[in-house]
Amino acid sequence: MMQMITLLGATGSIGVSTLDVIARHPDKYAIFALTAHSQVDKLAQQCLQFNPQYAVVSDAAAASRLQSLLRESGCSTEALWGVDALCQVASDSAVDTVMAAIVGAAGLVPTLTAVKAGKKILLANKEALVMAGGLFMQAVAASGSVLLPIDSEHNAIFQCLPAGYTDSNDSGVSKLLLSASGGPFRGQTLEQMRSVTPDQACAHPNWSMGRKISVDSATLMNKGLELIEACWLFAMPAQSVEVVVHPQSIIHSLVQYNDGSVLAQLGNPDMRTPIAHALAWPERIESGVADLDLFEIARLDFEKPDLDAFPCLAIASRAAQTGADAATILNAANEVAVQAFLDERIGFTQIAEVVEQTLNERALSEPESLEAVQEADNQARLHSSAIIKKLDK
Ligand code: NAD
Ligand code: MG
Repeated sequence: MMQMITLLGATGSIGVSTLDVIARHPDKYAIFALTAHSQVDKLAQQCLQFNPQYAVVSDAAAASRLQSLLRESGCSTEALWGVDALCQVASDSAVDTVMAAIVGAAGLVPTLTAVKAGKKILLANKEALVMAGGLFMQAVAASGSVLLPIDSEHNAIFQCLPAGYTDSNDSGVSKLLLSASGGPFRGQTLEQMRSVTPDQACAHPNWSMGRKISVDSATLMNKGLELIEACWLFAMPAQSVEVVVHPQSIIHSLVQYNDGSVLAQLGNPDMRTPIAHALAWPERIESGVADLDLFEIARLDFEKPDLDAFPCLAIASRAAQTGADAATILNAANEVAVQAFLDERIGFTQIAEVVEQTLNERALSEPESLEAVQEADNQARLHSSAIIKKLDK
């Protein structure tokens, strides 16, 4: 059976890796829609190769440029724009599977729309789950949508859990061990990281990724977001998820059982493995990733995270335990602070300061609706922007 796919965030790092896997299996997968924010030329190229029915961008001007490019090259893809169009291509009855690979809060509404339409969801966009975990998981349960994690750690955990896992009580799972590479600044002190530049922060030792997640990996906020993501995906309390720094990024995460067994998933650090796993699940397909050579790797190291040097992990872990809309506020403040760092308006170590101050100063509430989540997100963005304005670099 041909699987019809909408790929949200096609021009990004995950988007490109997804198309690489799909191109290896033209007999199994076809593209219904590709979407991007503003990279019109790259999206047009992808349309020529995969011939989707629709291509969606963020604004009307980009859509009109895209449509001209597509016509000139004889491609029949129709260009659309805006959030409504994203939701339309994420929920169309012709679609089986939606890869959610937009970065940040912008991915929430289209991803949630796909969930409500009962699609199979391949979730890379962790921010959607962090900011609206309760609503998101309720929507998954209500629609019967199949939710498969793309984040390498969560995909690893999924692979190490028993089939049909619902929660830790019945399955003897005592702990999830979440792998972290430690990022480009592992071993440095907070003081040493004060003058780090955006390019240094984005130069990850093991993974090639978009700039936002690269900065999150450097501050370890990415691991904090992933801790919250793991709690929602696997119905685990935050206390039962432990971060293990493993610099080689070969073990992608582990599951500890109450009989003393620990199961791990290993592989080369290449996102095509979790993407291929989720696309084909419960079957397996070839991904293009080289075989793991344990003799060349020779050793695997483990250490505890340094929470003094990387306060973002501790802040996120506290937010996970606090509940209510703390994670929504954390995510919003982090997105604003990371953008300010990438724009060289604040220093690297000020990202944690902005997030912590925003969380300390905002009142928490229990978000009961998507509108309430969006309001908490908006208010936190305004709040952290105001904090950033007052900061001297
Ligand atoms: P990226 O920056 O490379 O790509 C982001 C994609 O989202 C692009 O296609 C861009 O056009 C689109 N986009 C950005 N802003 C948008 C907006 N406002 N509206 C609509 N589309 C928008 O990011 P990435 O590294 O591919 O990461 C994508 C998601 O996957 C993130 O949530 C990230 O945390 C997660 N993830 C990435 C990796 C990785 O290896 N790159 C690993 C695990 C999880
Ligand atoms: Mg990850």
